[in-house]
Amino acid sequence: MSSFKYPKIENFVKPSDYKDKKLSGRILNAFTNIPYQIYKNDSNEEEWSIKHLPGNSALLSSFSYLEKESEWENHLFAWTGELEIYNRNLQKSELGQNQNQSQFDESFYLNSEDKEDIESKIKKAHESENIHPIWLLRKDQQRWRRYAENCIWPAFHYIMSTPSDGREETQWWYDYVKFNEAYASKVIAAYKPGDIIWVHDYYLLLLPQLIRMQFPNAIIAFFMHCPFPSSEYFRALPKRQQLLDGLLGSNKVSFQNPSFARHFLSSCKRILGFELTGPSQILAYGLTINVDSNPIGIDVPKIEYDTFNKEIDSKVFDLKLAYSNNNKKIIVGRDRLDSVRGVVQKLQAFETFLEMYPEMRDKVILIQVSSPSFSHSAKIEQQVSELISNINGKYGSLNSIPIHHYQMRIAKEEYFALLRVADLGLITSVRDGMNTTAFEYVIAQKYNHSPLILSEFSGNADVLHDALIVNPWDSVAVAKAIYESLNLDESRKQIMEKLLYKSVPSIQQWTNDYLTNLIEEIEIDDGKRKLTSVLDRPLLLDHYKQAHRRLFLFDYDGTLTPIVKDPAAAIPSSRLINILGKLSEDPKNLIWIISGRDQAFLEKWLGSINPKLGLSAEHGCFMKDVNNQEWVNLASEVDMSWQQKVEDIYNEYNIKTPGASTEKKKVALTWHYRRSDPELGEFNAEKLVQELQEKIAPHYDVEVMTGKANVEVRPSFVNKGEIVRRLVCAKHGSPQVHNQSTNKENDFEELPDFIVCLGDDSTDEDMFNKLNDVEKDWESKAYSKHEKFENFGIYPIKVGTASQVTNAKFHLNNPTQVLETLGLLVGDVSIFETGGSKLELDDRGHLKDSLASKKSRDIIASLRRHKSEIKK
Ligand SMILES: [Mg+2]
Repeated sequence: MSSFKYPKIENFVKPSDYKDKKLSGRILNAFTNIPYQIYKNDSNEEEWSIKHLPGNSALLSSFSYLEKESEWENHLFAWTGELEIYNRNLQKSELGQNQNQSQFDESFYLNSEDKEDIESKIKKAHESENIHPIWLLRKDQQRWRRYAENCIWPAFHYIMSTPSDGREETQWWYDYVKFNEAYASKVIAAYKPGDIIWVHDYYLLLLPQLIRMQFPNAIIAFFMHCPFPSSEYFRALPKRQQLLDGLLGSNKVSFQNPSFARHFLSSCKRILGFELTGPSQILAYGLTINVDSNPIGIDVPKIEYDTFNKEIDSKVFDLKLAYSNNNKKIIVGRDRLDSVRGVVQKLQAFETFLEMYPEMRDKVILIQVSSPSFSHSAKIEQQVSELISNINGKYGSLNSIPIHHYQMRIAKEEYFALLRVADLGLITSVRDGMNTTAFEYVIAQKYNHSPLILSEFSGNADVLHDALIVNPWDSVAVAKAIYESLNLDESRKQIMEKLLYKSVPSIQQWTNDYLTNLIEEIEIDDGKRKLTSVLDRPLLLDHYKQAHRRLFLFDYDGTLTPIVKDPAAAIPSSRLINILGKLSEDPKNLIWIISGRDQAFLEKWLGSINPKLGLSAEHGCFMKDVNNQEWVNLASEVDMSWQQKVEDIYNEYNIKTPGASTEKKKVALTWHYRRSDPELGEFNAEKLVQELQEKIAPHYDVEVMTGKANVEVRPSFVNKGEIVRRLVCAKHGSPQVHNQSTNKENDFEELPDFIVCLGDDSTDEDMFNKLNDVEKDWESKAYSKHEKFENFGIYPIKVGTASQVTNAKFHLNNPTQVLETLGLLVGDVSIFETGGSKLELDDRGHLKDSLASKKSRDIIASLRRHKSEIKK
């Protein structure tokens, strides 16, 4: 084995090829688990051992090439996988005093010495210091996989899950988030500017955004090894938005084939409403993301080396002897027994073939090897074994069995021998990211030239054009293809094999091309991109407690409630009403809801429920003071004749755009297309804005605004910023509505000393801007700041991701986090429940220094003591 040497690739991409991009020369790869099993044969064994996991995936070959043959410094970040103790013969006497047996499992109570010891073994086996295991030692170690394997994997392969109450999934999701957070903290700790971060596969969909939140200018690439479903399927995942958001932290998201990339783009547009800035580009949160497809390859030189040698020659000879002594043709298949590899379809097609061509019955055998995997389906297994016994019973005889089925993991040598001995390779998967068996088969047939039948639903179908491409659902067509390929003449087979061989991508070339594309697409860092920092909630709470005159300024939609398709359905939750109630009970607090909504809605759902709320409707056109029933129209003396004209124009667009509607507020007029097809809606919105700019804007004092899936016309003198100025510069607690003039300078000691302003869209930027102006003004007047916090207590907070462009100083991700934060202020939520990115986890995925974390630390300590006592 050691005699194998990689052929060097000419001009493999080097960091020094791109001096202007300021690369560090390091690549940080994050993928699912290290290629080693950590185990003990016996729980009495002193030390943990490691062994190579079977299977030599293409990705590991790519890493190995980068490590050993390139000029890059390649780092690997991966979970340790489940630790195994094969023989658990724990004695009661060995347990710590108060441990009960079921709770006790040594594999998740490793101390730092154990971990260092294992890490050094891994580094030695890997012949590199640059492998960084991620420890997540918890009871039930498989928890970290569940969401990925039970929710994402099926949905990405078009398998709809059975309906449930979602409780289990919620726990799985929680673990999935932690899994990603554990990677994030390890990668973040290792990161240096100019590093390339390369994230792999569906276990780590959230990782790119988690890293992006820390490092706005990091170079982050994501490669999806499995399929990506159509947006119609993807949208069935309850966490669809979070998953897409996670991926959109990358600069580049890549897939195995163009359809998967297209599906992803359409999901971003249709589910998140993001704008596509090119056929393969999305603009999301101020970041341009390139989306493309680069089918992954295999390690061609290594596989050739492993396939054509004396050892395999003799195995091939043995196989021929065993199976084809009567000149029988051998069809070979190797698949996992799950619902996407199409083994059932294969068997049905083979049966059809035997049925259609009786003369072939004694001349063909099918050797099917089914290897175990997490996606194994017992139902499919049963179907397969029933089909096989039927077919063998019907078409077999004492000395001839048509199908030989081996359900096991076979050794690499057996596998290559099988591929070489085949007269036909048969792959009928119904959904497949990239089927490496197909590539390996083509390489193994370099000298034998046997043809390949390949499903059109396999990711490879786009690459291996010269295979016989079939629809696995059409068993007659597959049967015909089997017949045809078994009867091809030699010259035809040679031509096909030559073409196929050429089209197998090499993993080294793939790595080179991928990195080259990525680096070339990187925009040179101009230092302009900035991220809004996460709101420090413990600090906010501290400041809140010390403040005396607190003012809250809240936008409504998208801030206090999530955006929903039907604006009328965005009614406040009882939790929100409850929290607002508690906030408003405190006499130090004044709360204003400043919304684009009309008076009627705000009155019905907020004002009538809690009269202590101040309300401002239609972006500041109307206001209703705290503890007051009277609404005041601030726009009463303005010419409103433009309204009818705008309404007529809207009506034309409603007809042209199914699902669109006009919302008539007292002052503003809004055209919504949230319920329309997003492409048509956007297209018509653009034309509408143009028309309004030409026909209305020049003649009246109005503004044409575009919002989230809407267009609005309103008088230009009203905006949310004006209201904010009015409230912030007024004596705290004084009546607002008739306080038309704010020219009078108020005593600073009477102005609010704690201002929280929350909003999610562009109209809220007016509020943030106004607050920033006020802050500057106070600064220039040298008003006194709070001694501890060294500020005026002004907190403009954007509801959205960190990378969104905003004038706010802080951000919270979504309305849920807003409620958690407000709940924290009124004592409804504990600081540990607020979650989010400011929290650190220990090696077990517990919150650092939480009770659970301390408890497991104590157990480790007592376990150590106990062990050393036994030794003595
Ligand atoms: Mg809003």
